[in-house]
Amino acid sequence: MTTAPHASSFAERHIGTTAEAGISRMLAPLGLPSIDALVDAAVPAGIRLRDSLQLPEPLSEEEALARLRAFAGRNEVKTQMIGQGFYGTHTPPIIRRQVLENPAWYTAYTPYQPEISQGRLEALLNFQTMVSELTALPVANASLLDESSAAAEAVLLMRRANRSHGSRTTVLDRNLFPQTIAVIRGRAEALGFPVEVADLAAGLPEGEISGIVLQQPGDDGAVTDHAAIIAAARERGALVTVIADLLSLALIVPPGEQGADIAVGSTQRFGVPLFFGGPHAAYMAIRTGLERSLPGRLVGVSRDDSGAPAYRLALQTREQHIRREKATSNICTAQALLAVTASMYAVYHGPAGIRAIAERAHAHARTLAAALADAGVELLRGAFFDTVVARVPGRADAVLAAAEAAGINLRRIDADTVGVSADETTSEAHVEAVAAAFGATVSRVFSPGELGIPQGLVRESGYLTHPIFNTIRSETQMLRYLRRLADRDLALDRTMIPLGSCTMKLNSAAEMESISWPEFASIHPYAPAHQTAGWRELIRDLEERLVEITGYAGVSIQPNAGSQGEYAGLLAIRGYHRAGGDEGRDVCLIPASAHGTNAASAVLAGMHVVVVKNTDAGTIDLDDLDAKIAEHRDALAAIMITYPSTYGLYDADVREVCDRVHAAGGQVYIDGANMNALVGLAKPGEFGGDVSHLNLHKTFAIPHGGGGPGVGPVAVAEHLLPYLPGDPVRAGGGPDGQRDGVATSDGIPVVSTLFGSAGVLPISWAYIAMLGAEGLTRSTRHALLGANYLAARLREHYPILFTGPGGLVAHECILDLRALTAETGVTAEDVAKRLIDFGFHAPTLAFPVAGTLMVEPTESEDLAELERFIEAMIAIREEIAQVAAGEFALADSPLRRAPHTAAAVVTSAWDRPYPVEQAAFPVASLRVDKYFPPVGRIDGAHGDRNLICSCPAPEAFEN
Ligand SMILES: *Cc1c(COP(=O)(O)O)cnc(C)c1O
Repeated sequence: MTTAPHASSFAERHIGTTAEAGISRMLAPLGLPSIDALVDAAVPAGIRLRDSLQLPEPLSEEEALARLRAFAGRNEVKTQMIGQGFYGTHTPPIIRRQVLENPAWYTAYTPYQPEISQGRLEALLNFQTMVSELTALPVANASLLDESSAAAEAVLLMRRANRSHGSRTTVLDRNLFPQTIAVIRGRAEALGFPVEVADLAAGLPEGEISGIVLQQPGDDGAVTDHAAIIAAARERGALVTVIADLLSLALIVPPGEQGADIAVGSTQRFGVPLFFGGPHAAYMAIRTGLERSLPGRLVGVSRDDSGAPAYRLALQTREQHIRREKATSNICTAQALLAVTASMYAVYHGPAGIRAIAERAHAHARTLAAALADAGVELLRGAFFDTVVARVPGRADAVLAAAEAAGINLRRIDADTVGVSADETTSEAHVEAVAAAFGATVSRVFSPGELGIPQGLVRESGYLTHPIFNTIRSETQMLRYLRRLADRDLALDRTMIPLGSCTMKLNSAAEMESISWPEFASIHPYAPAHQTAGWRELIRDLEERLVEITGYAGVSIQPNAGSQGEYAGLLAIRGYHRAGGDEGRDVCLIPASAHGTNAASAVLAGMHVVVVKNTDAGTIDLDDLDAKIAEHRDALAAIMITYPSTYGLYDADVREVCDRVHAAGGQVYIDGANMNALVGLAKPGEFGGDVSHLNLHKTFAIPHGGGGPGVGPVAVAEHLLPYLPGDPVRAGGGPDGQRDGVATSDGIPVVSTLFGSAGVLPISWAYIAMLGAEGLTRSTRHALLGANYLAARLREHYPILFTGPGGLVAHECILDLRALTAETGVTAEDVAKRLIDFGFHAPTLAFPVAGTLMVEPTESEDLAELERFIEAMIAIREEIAQVAAGEFALADSPLRRAPHTAAAVVTSAWDRPYPVEQAAFPVASLRVDKYFPPVGRIDGAHGDRNLICSCPAPEAFEN
């Protein structure tokens, strides 16, 4: 690196330590003269790039924001009445500022360490309670990725629950949104189970049925009484999923009361901006008995070591990181931040407010329907909630153009049919303008409360009855509730979060700023292309930059999490093999060290997982690889490797591994979650990969949001380009497509809406634009420096499990606690919990090796913060020595009794064998800046034995 850093460059603020003095101190324990020398020693020469990345010159923060303004300026903000799963909504400003734009919420990690996550766990429990009450089903999870993939997850859940009926068909009502049909069909195609699209209003088709999927209201807006078809399906041994619009359930009989087993849908219209299609939180609610088959995360109530109620993630043994290929789903990152937003919308409005919003949308739709009917326009359905579909033979384009001229987007269903959806933002003036676009005039205005919903379908039961939805009314209360919850948690705004494999780096304010601009946030995903030129340019530009960074030929940003990128990438491999007549290739080799999503995604893509061993040194065992290739030569579809590996190693043999798999006819999938150790130094597309996914919410600065959103772009080599994800609406028979029978996706995979989680892409765009080639490469180099410095400082206290040449690691390292555990009983978990008393979020616990901690500092942490962490880890090591020396019993040690709440230490009855000062202030700096967790160590097993997944009554918290 020759260019001199200058104070105004963004890289100087993104990277924690750039001063020469600091760098020298970090290099000293490595015995290396420069970062160049470190990179040369750590990164195998055989994969190193010779030239620097070809990217535009870096921009300052101001310049990047000006460029983003220019992109945004080429989008046109209209009143969005297209519907089709995406609706206008007002994000209450207090929620926008205090949640969506608040780093205390958006920089948090998934709540795997529950003691420091009670705030967001409470918010997610509110989300589950909200969904459960509105759908009238007892258990809801803490969000899925989007409505379409949630429906696909429901179909798989029905098949799991109905295992004995493996060959049975899944029947989709033809009145589902086309994008949903496309995504479900894609899943079914990969797994080889039959799906049929039928008009369920005409009754169940013949034959054996595993499950049926209905939608309320339907694609055509119809509100239908599903009770009879649900009963008939259950009679035939089928399960029933209803995709339900959450807002409509304020007025319409909910799925749970109609006998459905599962309800899914989007919570977008609960205050989450349109975001050009995402990120939005989908929900899934189930009847009792299906809990253990539920995909996604589930928050439950347990208790802490003092017996107080405490929240935690429940039933984690279902999840991919434990169950791998037997998991209920591959979903890891979900949509936590958007789920929190939607739940706070319900807290803010309460049941009466939600009902009023639903009634207003309904009344506007009725007013429009009456005007159209008066003008002789034929309406497809008489019973609707918010969506009116009109038949205008040959006139659809003219009606759309007239509406657009009045600033309103409508839905073009086909040349003769137009859909109009009212929502929270609709006004009487909008309705008049839409009526005029049809050549009609409003004659009668319906008022909220005048329900046009058929008799038996009007909801009589209550919802949002829990006190949390009925106590917070003033903005002052709301402000303080949000602050109180945020204060219970540790996020990046307070401390480094050294989670290996998760790359918790800076999410800068300049990167974040543009996402709530209306020109980005208020764009409907199906708005006409000429209104969304800015979005499309930004996406194309980002995709091109990612192509350059990865060395592949093309990138799709459609996958809305790493897991979905894996799925899309494996489908591309599958499509490629099939096109070459290689239908039998369905074995996916996965090293033992891989992330759980790899195995779970392979299964979803219809592949069989075969595990390849790692050597004792942590590299892929080439002999075992050869043996597995030989055993499965004709069936070999792919190998999935993570590079550098989850062991924090640059495997020097990686080209050899790729060559051997290629020679056997297999494809190479390189999991790019660890790109933070590669950007600017090596390109997976050049050292042997055919396809990779990236985690924009790791390497490319999208915040983790407490468990989502994410973006998992899939990048492919030339020969896989035809298999990149396609347009789900087209694949599902969207505009001009065949509705009846619904076109298949022609082998083109679709994984979510066309542009996935588009709304957060400006973050990664800004990150890359502001760093440029040099800043990105510098970031990678500093990530290596930070990890190697930590490893060098900690190795005399905790052994580093795997190291490469020269004792070096990549961008993360694994601290091996197992010998200490054997000797003293102190576990890696004890260390993780004790770190909370020092104000730290723990490193990654027990992945990829049980009994270890994986530490990834990232380039954004400065030397002083690294020293603070090292000091804590050394202090903890001394406490382990105290246990070993018998100064106190493990059960009564500050390690096992950690973390310490304020209540535990502020007591006149302190009776533990270690000083109370050691409990609370193990290092001096904590006397000033102290975080107390709101609960002590949580008893996980208790929560799983006594599953409670909605808000407990307030009395539970008394005393
Ligand atoms: C994070 C991660 C994934 C999964 O990404 P999600 O966005 O959480 O689905 C896959 N592989 C590796 C190595 C990871 O670290």
